[in-house]
Amino acid sequence: MGLVNVLQRLVGGGKGSFLSTSMAIDLGTANTLVYLQDRGIVLEEPSVVAVDSVSGEISTVGREAKAMLGRTGRGFEAVHPLKDGVITNATATMAMLRIFFERSQVRRFSMRPRVLVCVPSGITEVEITAVRNALERAGAREVLLVSEPLASAVGVGLPVEAAAGNMVVDIGGGTTEIAVISLSSIAANNSIRTGGDELNEAIAAYLKKHFSLLIGERTSEQVKICLGTVSEGDDSYMDVSGLDFVNGIPRTYRIRSQEVREALKEPVSAIVEAVRHGLERTPPELASDIVDRGIVLTGGGALLRGIDRLLMKETGLPIRRADNPLSCTVLGAGIILEDLYRYRKLLIQ
Ligand code: ADP
Ligand code: MG
Repeated sequence: MGLVNVLQRLVGGGKGSFLSTSMAIDLGTANTLVYLQDRGIVLEEPSVVAVDSVSGEISTVGREAKAMLGRTGRGFEAVHPLKDGVITNATATMAMLRIFFERSQVRRFSMRPRVLVCVPSGITEVEITAVRNALERAGAREVLLVSEPLASAVGVGLPVEAAAGNMVVDIGGGTTEIAVISLSSIAANNSIRTGGDELNEAIAAYLKKHFSLLIGERTSEQVKICLGTVSEGDDSYMDVSGLDFVNGIPRTYRIRSQEVREALKEPVSAIVEAVRHGLERTPPELASDIVDRGIVLTGGGALLRGIDRLLMKETGLPIRRADNPLSCTVLGAGIILEDLYRYRKLLIQ
């Protein structure tokens, strides 16, 4: 490589430049993922911040902070800085991002990174400004935005640029987003504020109502991940410990997957309804594409056992679960980042 080339690479700022860094980030309600250009996914952590209740200072973020959820006795409070896909606590979000940037070692040679961030499709101008500000204050040089369904669609390998309808259903922490994509844009969408968190709450409410047992957010999520199902056949169980609210004593209850299925009935049918509505809003030509091509399920909620079969039964359409439902959004954003020129139409102007 000649000297001129070396210099160009050093200052160039393009792909492979030594001095500039570009990253993609999926700032989700439940999880934040970071993709570094030329390196791939380097960070996957819960979007949780632990705050010292006395000083108000951030004590830790991510995995360690999530482990503190519900354990407030030690002078810490764990908070979710995002709700339903948008920032509700700007200071905590900024602090969390700054630490995630450090952990990702994004600032090579102390250059400020260009950041491509995924945002919900229904985001408002005010919410966009909040995302920009948080990223800039955390160290971003430039902020580019892409709608989450478009990023997810690229991440699962759908032909987003084609003149054909493709449907993505993303069951995230706070929301379920349904989008039909064609010609690099969103042709129809529907979003409801029911996602994985609501499933956790439904499990906690069931145990409280039927067995007077109080469990926390982390425990109910564990029950959902271990036993959660929408199928009738599943028959497994686990022991959950909580507080008996009648006599105030800790107690263990053996819960069966069929009880979890019962508990999840309502929020799951809300998700099914939302998919139906999304289909109703789809222009006829694109709807006929979806009959052929089916629906791709993404987001952590897509991992719920039997949700694919249930949606297949309820819509009569072919349903495919993404291979990597938790990471396909950031992966898609990474693919877009690696070829910004090709995918420029996907960016929010
Ligand atoms: P977001 O993009 O909103 O941050 P994610 O796509 O990361 O959300 O999904 C997080 C949700 O997925 C959480 O509610 C989590 O409990 C749920 N989840 C993760 N793994 C599973 C699983 N195996 N079964 C059911 N739900 C799961
Ligand atoms: Mg998401």
